[in-house]
Amino acid sequence: MSMSRRWKLSAACLAGLLTGGLLGQLAGGHVATGVATVAVAEIVLLLTRERHPMRSIMTTTTAAAKHKRLMTRTHRLASSLRDLRRTASQLPDAVVLLDPDQRVRWFNHAAENLLGLRSPDDRGAPLEQRLQASELADWLRQDEHEPLHDTVAPGRPDSQISVSLLPFGRRQQVLLARDTSHVTRLEQMRRDFVANVSHELRTPLTVIHGYLELLDPEDAPALAPVLGEMRAQSRRMGQIVEDLLTLSRLETQHHVEDERVPMAPLLATLRKEAEALSQGRHTIVVEADAGLDLLGSSKDLHSALSNLVSNAVRYTPAGGTITIRWRRTPEGASYSVSDTGYGIPASHLSRLTERFYRVSSSRSRGTGGTGLGLSIVKHVLNLHQARLGIESEPGRGSTFSCHFGPERLLAPARSHDET
Ligand code: ADP
Repeated sequence: MSMSRRWKLSAACLAGLLTGGLLGQLAGGHVATGVATVAVAEIVLLLTRERHPMRSIMTTTTAAAKHKRLMTRTHRLASSLRDLRRTASQLPDAVVLLDPDQRVRWFNHAAENLLGLRSPDDRGAPLEQRLQASELADWLRQDEHEPLHDTVAPGRPDSQISVSLLPFGRRQQVLLARDTSHVTRLEQMRRDFVANVSHELRTPLTVIHGYLELLDPEDAPALAPVLGEMRAQSRRMGQIVEDLLTLSRLETQHHVEDERVPMAPLLATLRKEAEALSQGRHTIVVEADAGLDLLGSSKDLHSALSNLVSNAVRYTPAGGTITIRWRRTPEGASYSVSDTGYGIPASHLSRLTERFYRVSSSRSRGTGGTGLGLSIVKHVLNLHQARLGIESEPGRGSTFSCHFGPERLLAPARSHDET
């Protein structure tokens, strides 16, 4: 406020006070009351008129409070970030933060142990280069990153890790690696146990079965039904042991021998097997127009494909039809077995390939099943990078299909007569 304005204001205030005193005296001789009333009125007037400086004081106070609040929040945020970072650095899983070019931005202690990264040298280095000559580096080079399971830890060759890559922030990624050695060891122990037990049971069972075969029911007609049952059960036990041994072998195998599996003779054998099992109770149809052979293990593929045929016969009442198909598909080729049998409720479908999983135990046992057939089929297909598809409707029938990719398909070899 300028000096002249201040003078004018003071003179006006003084005049006001004098007028107040004069009016007080005229009204009843209370000069002081008049002066006081005018003084209060002037103060109120001043405060409302001079609200600009007051507001600016108030504004300054609000900005300071805001600033303080902002600083508090920033500190709190920084402290949370520090805590988060400290926790991440202590995580038992390896965590590596990667920039859009897959260069290492940050990693924790577990990443030093499991992946062999070193601080500070490896910060800024391309991760794939740092993990040279490992399955993990090959995986990083791929465009698609489905989680990689049970691969050797580059920083600790006696350990196994499972790795996944997740998007993070703007075009960044975070790599997570978990030590799965103990799970792998437990899996191995379970596999060894099943394989050893099956192996140990095989010899005594063969002996028992042998002696049972030697016994002639005609020597003891009263025992004939018992003997028949004992033979059937010992055969079943023998089959379970054989299936368990097959599963153990398939589980430990990572690749199959690549040989040509001619499909025309294989389909003819499958038809004969179906007819032998059905003994005329079903109509067996084969539709084979793929004109392709398979590449893989002849023995394992035969076992898997015939398992599906045997199931179709066993779970289809007399009078039904079993159709075996071998066709080309947009993705490659498919082998399928359809039946008009009992069918399977949808709730069971996802669990059918588990060991010993049965929709109906009595029906499975009654038809001589071990409960391991579809488990074997799944393992054989996995080894051939193929997929099992199941469609079923209770009371109408089922279709089990094996989908093979082009890498497993071969044009049939030309016979000598044709050349
Ligand atoms: P199993 O030796 O008991 O047949 P599998 O593993 O071959 O064992 O099959 C698992 C279960 O799936 C069977 O017990 C049966 O309940 C069901 N299943 C398999 N194939 C068929 C089919 N074609 N029709 C109906 N049910 C089936």
